[in-house]
Amino acid sequence: MMNIHIAESNLGLGASQSFTFSCTAQEIDAVSDTYSFEGPIAVEGTVTRTGTNFRVKGTIKARKHFVCDRCLADSFEDQVHPFEEEFYRPGEAAEETSNIVDGDELDIQELVRDTLLAAQPLSNICKPDCKGLCPVCGHNLNEGDCGCDRFVPDPRMAALQQLLKKTK
Ligand SMILES: [Zn+2]
Ligand SMILES: [Zn+2]
Repeated sequence: MMNIHIAESNLGLGASQSFTFSCTAQEIDAVSDTYSFEGPIAVEGTVTRTGTNFRVKGTIKARKHFVCDRCLADSFEDQVHPFEEEFYRPGEAAEETSNIVDGDELDIQELVRDTLLAAQPLSNICKPDCKGLCPVCGHNLNEGDCGCDRFVPDPRMAALQQLLKKTK
């Protein structure tokens, strides 16, 4: 549970209250088949009481563990994701929202989970210029060249070369 306990008596108009949470990915159901988050996920931020709502603003820090799609290396990436969202007292929101403050508890678990998962790219690459594996011998090309001839001729060019050989 990631509930911010709001001491409303201390949180007057314009006043802020800070919060910090630490959890595992499993605790907030931030799990995927293609990667995981290792160690604690750290969440911190502030709640500000505005005239019409509670503004929740903060950052999520997580360490992503994955296998690179290109070179298959075991990889880690330290990530920081900002978030900002409005929460309302029941009946105070202008539009339909699930961001409702129930009593003194403001639950940001879903917000944190959705922010974290939505920030993940479709592909898991160890670094933007990852060179991948040699299609001939499987060598990791980030560690240097293996010397293989990886030139794959265009089939039409190959046919043309055959034709040229015959005419010689
Ligand atoms: Zn890679
Ligand atoms: Zn090779």
